[in-house]
Amino acid sequence: MEKVQLIGADLAAMQELMSTLKEPPFRAKQVMQWIYQRGRFDFQQMGNLPKTLRDKLDGAASIVLPRITARRLSQDGTQKYLLELADGATIETVLIPEGSRRTLCVSSQVGCAMDCRFCATGAQGFERNLTVGEMVGQVLAVQKDSQEKITNIVLMGMGEPLANYEQVMGAVRLWNDPLGLGIAARRLTISTCGLVPGIRRLSREGLQVVLAVSLHAPNDDLRNHIMPINRRYNLTQLMEACREYVEATNRRITFEYALMQGFNDSPEHARQLAQLIKGILCHVNLIPLNPVDGHGWTSPTKRQVLLFQEELARHNIEATVRAARGADIEAACGQLKSRLGGKEVGHEHSS
Ligand code: SAH
Repeated sequence: MEKVQLIGADLAAMQELMSTLKEPPFRAKQVMQWIYQRGRFDFQQMGNLPKTLRDKLDGAASIVLPRITARRLSQDGTQKYLLELADGATIETVLIPEGSRRTLCVSSQVGCAMDCRFCATGAQGFERNLTVGEMVGQVLAVQKDSQEKITNIVLMGMGEPLANYEQVMGAVRLWNDPLGLGIAARRLTISTCGLVPGIRRLSREGLQVVLAVSLHAPNDDLRNHIMPINRRYNLTQLMEACREYVEATNRRITFEYALMQGFNDSPEHARQLAQLIKGILCHVNLIPLNPVDGHGWTSPTKRQVLLFQEELARHNIEATVRAARGADIEAACGQLKSRLGGKEVGHEHSS
């Protein structure tokens, strides 16, 4: 019989397992606590379970974490992981410490189909969706390795979360569940390139998660250039969905805007951006572009960034400039995997 993989299992799945094993349902919570809260992945170490149950679990279930095949520490403390999944696929996860926060940037897909022109993951194409267990597993693997609790999660690794809607919601629920990792919903961020139906659906979930929308351009002309998704859902449709989202959830939206020199970084672009998002409860994150090999885009000067921010401020738009972190370890958006590839790194480490 195929063993049940328990990473990713919620209370219902755990109770079902207990019922197949002819065990009382309360055991489900105990096993969840060991896995998600105490980070124990060996049934024999689950001290409050009777020996008979531990042995039954050994026979019927398994706890398999993604395997860490490469780990790189940036001078600013950012730690980038390359993880190998059960089928050999590789993904990235980035740990970003900041004061008392431990933010983990998690992947939702192997590769990505959205093909944003400035993004390294986009250039790799799409392989497959990640499962709930593979997304939750990223968090557990990094917690185990770093010996630190993750406090915040951003779905800003590889992939488009809203193109893997069901599995992403399953992971979000388990991260949030007090029997799971118990992370407050407000500390969970879902980032999208603008899948309008997904945004609408998310607005009806009744979740307190943060929605981040990758805008990166103030008009359809420019956005069509860098984000193919804009040809499917243009800025008018996207902004309408964003307004509805705020209306339905009362939650502030985060707009991501990567500044690319000479392309979208002038004060005039800032004015257009202010006009576009006027009246939407939101916050703007300005990110100087992380240049990706072969794409030709570069980041603007500090002065250009400040001028852009000041122009937004003049229109009463609050914006923060996000420090580019982990640049020395290719921590931006698919860079480590593009550079090192999956298999080669595995060999490097096993030798
Ligand atoms: N697919 C989702 C989440 C993954 S990417 C989305 O599009 O939002 C997380 C963020 O990094 C997005 O805002 C994305 O546009 C941005 N990004 C991708 N490549 C980048 C680069 N080279 N420099 C700066 N930001 C980049």
